Amino acid sequence: MNDGSPLRFVPGHIAPEDAGPAPRLFAFLRRELLVTADNALPSVAAIDALGIEATRTQYLGAWEDTHCFSAELPDDFKPPDGFATRDLRMLFASLEPELHALAGRAVQIVEWDRSHQFCGACGIPTEPSSSDRSRSCPDCAVPMYPRLSPAMIVAVERGDEILLGRGGNFPPGIFSVLAGFVEPGESAEEAVIREVYEETRIVVEDVRYFGSQAWPFPNSLMLGFTARYASGTVNTDHDEEMETADFFHVDNLPTTFPGNISISQWLMEDFVKRHGKNRD
Ligand SMILES: [Zn+2]
Repeated sequence: MNDGSPLRFVPGHIAPEDAGPAPRLFAFLRRELLVTADNALPSVAAIDALGIEATRTQYLGAWEDTHCFSAELPDDFKPPDGFATRDLRMLFASLEPELHALAGRAVQIVEWDRSHQFCGACGIPTEPSSSDRSRSCPDCAVPMYPRLSPAMIVAVERGDEILLGRGGNFPPGIFSVLAGFVEPGESAEEAVIREVYEETRIVVEDVRYFGSQAWPFPNSLMLGFTARYASGTVNTDHDEEMETADFFHVDNLPTTFPGNISISQWLMEDFVKRHGKNRD
């Protein structure tokens, strides 16, 4: 089933005839996952027992020996006693990371399938492809794939200082590294240089790839970078979404998002490891 893949999850789009003894099912009410009252993934048997008729279902692929499916719950679905529906942001603590990542795949496939039932150009119903995860309009013949939005996120360093900002939509007092979407025609490195300049009027150099993370809110691929301060003075007046930003010394960092779940936190951790008192 896993077919010798070096990865534990092998994506697929056509369900096997035999789903095996214990498949997994990620059922969503819009973007909220159906979970048990203690925020665990219910068994397929427990979901089946609810007798819900799913609006659509999708095969996701195989997690080692376990076949995985997703389902779109009807809009009028109300979770019965013992169940709840939750945004995936609320489930980082209760779902193990690999299961959470699978749920992140699932919500994007469900959402793509829901929103691509009709052709965006001519409006007639689309048809699923048998060869890959796409839907096509029989007239326009243009395949429609699940959307991924690449975004860059960057730790800008100036000696033992790091550039952190506060978006207007952040919780009070919280700072984070800078981030923004990559524009059509732009490399990720160019997006780093442009976004940092747009948001703070700081010019950076020596942009280096750090790592990436799928971020299903709603369909980002976060591309992490480090960069070095080159010139400029922090000024956030040119960016409506940026409330404030500044360079912070490693020994005097502001409050950042709690936990260790996102690449913004991995970038911070890496910075502290290289510049903090207990540096290697
Ligand atoms: Zn069409």
